Amino acid sequence: MQPNTYRTHHCNELRLAHVGETVTLSGWVNSARDQGGVIFVDLRDREGVTQIVFRSEENPEAAAASHKLRDEDVLQITGKVVKRLEGTNNDKLATGEVELVVSNLTMLNKAAVLPFQLDKELSNEDLRLKYRYLDLRRPRMTRNLRTRHRVTKATRDYLDAHGFVEVETPILSKSTPEGARDFLVPSRLSPGKFYALPQAPQQYKQLLMVAGLERYFQIAKCFRDEDLRADRQPEFTQVDIEMSFPTEEDIYNLVEGLLKDMFKAGRDVEIPLPFPRMTWKEAMDRYGIDKPDTRFGNEITDVGDVFTKTEFKIFRGVLDGGGVVRAINAKGFASVTTGQMNRLNEIAIQAGLPVKTLAFIKYENGEYKSPLWRFFTDEEKAALIERMKIEEGDIVFFVAGPWESTCTILGRVRLEVAEMMGTTKGSDALNFLWVVDFPLLAYSEEDAKWCAVHHPFTRPKTEDIALLEEGKYSEVRAIAYDVVLNGCELGGGSLRIHESDLQAKMFSVLGVSEEEQKIMFSHILEAFQFGAPPHGGLALGLDRIIMLAAGEDSIREVIAFPKNNRGMELMTASPSPADFKQLREIYIQSTWKEKKAEEQA
Ligand code: ASP
Repeated sequence: MQPNTYRTHHCNELRLAHVGETVTLSGWVNSARDQGGVIFVDLRDREGVTQIVFRSEENPEAAAASHKLRDEDVLQITGKVVKRLEGTNNDKLATGEVELVVSNLTMLNKAAVLPFQLDKELSNEDLRLKYRYLDLRRPRMTRNLRTRHRVTKATRDYLDAHGFVEVETPILSKSTPEGARDFLVPSRLSPGKFYALPQAPQQYKQLLMVAGLERYFQIAKCFRDEDLRADRQPEFTQVDIEMSFPTEEDIYNLVEGLLKDMFKAGRDVEIPLPFPRMTWKEAMDRYGIDKPDTRFGNEITDVGDVFTKTEFKIFRGVLDGGGVVRAINAKGFASVTTGQMNRLNEIAIQAGLPVKTLAFIKYENGEYKSPLWRFFTDEEKAALIERMKIEEGDIVFFVAGPWESTCTILGRVRLEVAEMMGTTKGSDALNFLWVVDFPLLAYSEEDAKWCAVHHPFTRPKTEDIALLEEGKYSEVRAIAYDVVLNGCELGGGSLRIHESDLQAKMFSVLGVSEEEQKIMFSHILEAFQFGAPPHGGLALGLDRIIMLAAGEDSIREVIAFPKNNRGMELMTASPSPADFKQLREIYIQSTWKEKKAEEQA
């Protein structure tokens, strides 16, 4: 092999043992300092930093040139490794006991004035994204990309060791009913027709099971045209898994082992197995959400039985109408400010609270303060204090109404209070959890029809199939599971329907007519008639897992070139207009007019 002429070592390699050697390094000027006319440069490559000294007695030309060096210039340096002078060691650097005295300097590329300093945090995320290639030079971002690599590699290694075969499925594919809006791609060769980018490779992976593959996985790009949040991107990556002849236990075991390896690779922690499990119903009852954050308490408590004889009109009406009265004790939060209270009311209203303010009782300086207190009997008060374990400094929030929305509202309030109190700040707890036994169907008031809670291929529990036949849709449970970490959904999946008639039944419950079934799903319905094995799987959100492993708050920090919160990739300025000729070739004419945009603004 020819020796590399750019470098003999990387910038995190030289130690006292190298003293006296002549070496060559290449990298970026991390910083340059003038100390009494002598220039010291910290030369950086992806591995680390080495101090370089330009001494005019060694090479006067290089020393003269060193005065013009700028941050991020790319240099090749040849020089002699020397021990640093007594008292000038830098303990923070692995190379901190030595420096390189330059005998030759080659400027490989001169850097212009930077749009921002790389050694300072920058709050303008758009600017970071516009110059992402500079942003990615920061150690934190380099570290995140390398964490991503390690986690992805651990995933492949683990699944390979368990007999899973990686298969790529089409990106130009057919619309899949995963519940979000599709990205469409017009077809030039089939005028008027469109591909859809996959929201997930759901049907392909099921068809691979029909194909007899038995164990499939893919690090799969998925596309969903949704409004964006910190943990959402229009394109994201899933670890997509499917297996034939699985029991639920097989899937739990497989995924727990996988997550253990992913977190070991990404964060060097050992996560204890197995994960606790909780039914969806229990998660809703206790935490008011299907992805509970179990790092703290303040759980939802039913107080309906405290008020069985209540004269208080609101509670009376709700209880008589089959609803519930529930509460959470926000321990130690009686000092809530008016601003925080307003925010909590807002959140409760967004979550479905039908009135303007949350009912509460606070116990402060030995006194109960509450707009409700006077409506309660002494007996009710005593029972409530005991049930909710109310102590000095506590505030209890109440909601009365239908079960699900009551739990949801209190669940949102519980999370917001924890946020306001900084309950989990700085916590390094990793509370993994399976949420199981989701409902199969949910009624959408907006669409006036039943919708799949996961997707239409999810299997109902065997003992609940009869309920499906009887039309008791709200009672049917699915063999579906989500894996949750600290209140974040890491992924989810299900055992699938593998029988053509049950699948057709499911489609009809969802309001897909026979005609539409033929057009949209004939491939899968037909495939199920040719020997489809029982199968199931799940998909994990890879970006989110890496975000949590890397200790970041946004998935954008662990994606090399993410979109901003308006779905734009600012570095290449995409999306961008297409010219008339390009559009004509694909038979597309835009109805979008700039003027319309102005009117809408
Ligand atoms: N395809 C599903 C999703 O993307 C996951 C699964 O059921 O495997 O949510």
